[in-house]
Amino acid sequence: MTAAMSTFRREARQWLEANTPTEPPPEDGPASREYVLAWLRKQARGGWTGIAWPREVGGRGLSVLEQIVWFEEYARAAAPSPLDASFVGLNHAGPTVIACGTPEQKAFHLPKILAGEVIWCQGFSEPGAGSDLAALRTQAVLEGDHYVINGQKLWTSTAHHADWMFCLVRTDASGKKQQGITYLLIDMRTPGLTVRPIITIDGYHETNEVFFDNVRVPVVNRIGEENKGWDYAKFLLGNERSGIARVGVSKMRIRHAKELAKRVPCGDGVLWDDPRFRERVAAIEVELKALEITQMRVIAESSARGSHAPDPKTSILKIKGSELQQLAAELLLEVAGPDALPLDLDFLRGVGDPVREPDWALTIAPNHYFARHVSIVGGSNEIQKNILAKSVLGL
Ligand SMILES: Cc1cc2nc3c(=O)[nH]c(=O)nc-3n(C[C@H](O)[C@H](O)[C@H](O)COP(=O)(O)OP(=O)(O)OC[C@H]3O[C@@H](n4cnc5c(N)ncnc54)[C@H](O)[C@@H]3O)c2cc1C
Repeated sequence: MTAAMSTFRREARQWLEANTPTEPPPEDGPASREYVLAWLRKQARGGWTGIAWPREVGGRGLSVLEQIVWFEEYARAAAPSPLDASFVGLNHAGPTVIACGTPEQKAFHLPKILAGEVIWCQGFSEPGAGSDLAALRTQAVLEGDHYVINGQKLWTSTAHHADWMFCLVRTDASGKKQQGITYLLIDMRTPGLTVRPIITIDGYHETNEVFFDNVRVPVVNRIGEENKGWDYAKFLLGNERSGIARVGVSKMRIRHAKELAKRVPCGDGVLWDDPRFRERVAAIEVELKALEITQMRVIAESSARGSHAPDPKTSILKIKGSELQQLAAELLLEVAGPDALPLDLDFLRGVGDPVREPDWALTIAPNHYFARHVSIVGGSNEIQKNILAKSVLGL
């Protein structure tokens, strides 16, 4: 870690300590669109958006490593979970517009993303096109200066808050499936576009189905060339490397588990007195340290190459990072024990408001359940193992 990086970390930590909103509480479920935007704008005013964007487009011109340090400090501060809402705009939509967009697209979209004025969502997955993304069927037909879109996207996170979607559509079904895909930027308020909630196992509304019924999208909203969308999507996936391991999230959960274990009664003392529990914590912490070092190594190598092509080694970060996030969530569940169970008999009988004690246990089980998705999103762990087997091990 260079001196400049340490200074950056210290500044990020100080700013987050002073500015992180305390309402609603961290990890306490999804927030409203207004809440997300207010927090995004605050980060923008503080200079924490576009950390790794080039200076020419208004970014800070720093490296992916600084971006990761920001994610780590963000998680350390237990800053609100709508990080993902800014993540999609700043890490996916923005960089693709910077690299492949027209001057008009850059002038229109980039300042809004940097200022924290817009929320983006990612319209890639469809029924029957998740792991096999190139099988997507949502159809776009060129009519004059518009594409007319019909079809459905699935699992579109934050679509219910979003102003814009970057979306893959099928413009040619005649050849190889990767070759007939086009990349469009779609205004979520376009007539014919319907967002329907999916309530996930944690009971919250994070993700959605999106339906297109003759949705007209101007051709000027196309990124690059028609039928070349797969190339731009690959570029975008290359950008996913920053923060994919979410080391900060796991660290924050483990710290939380340790703090709680020091006050949760167990036998004659507290849970922290139990050597088996401490052993488990230590084992996860060791693996997390190894992941942190591996992450720095993989990113430093990619940056040195100056390449935006997806580095197959990032699959290691995805697999290990998601496993450790899940283990850390499980550790918290163990600390909470039966307190994590939503057992409130009066409430179940329909009498009064839910009362659950202690307060801190309220979100432990939902967060544990929601953590199951981290080994699925962004390419499931089985798919990541296939990538490693083929591209890294040469099997
Ligand atoms: C909470 C959540 C949020 C999401 N947010 C978004 C979003 O914002 N935008 C978006 O576009 N997508 C999003 N996704 C979709 C996500 O990217 C897909 O769910 C993921 O790619 C898996 O696709 P699938 O669900 O169609 O499962 P499938 O592809 O049908 O896979 C089912 C199972 O089969 C396994 N499998 C499939 N193919 C192979 C193979 N070749 N070898 C070995 N095993 C295989 C998979 O690993 C998995 O276990 C989200 C998903 C979730 C759960």
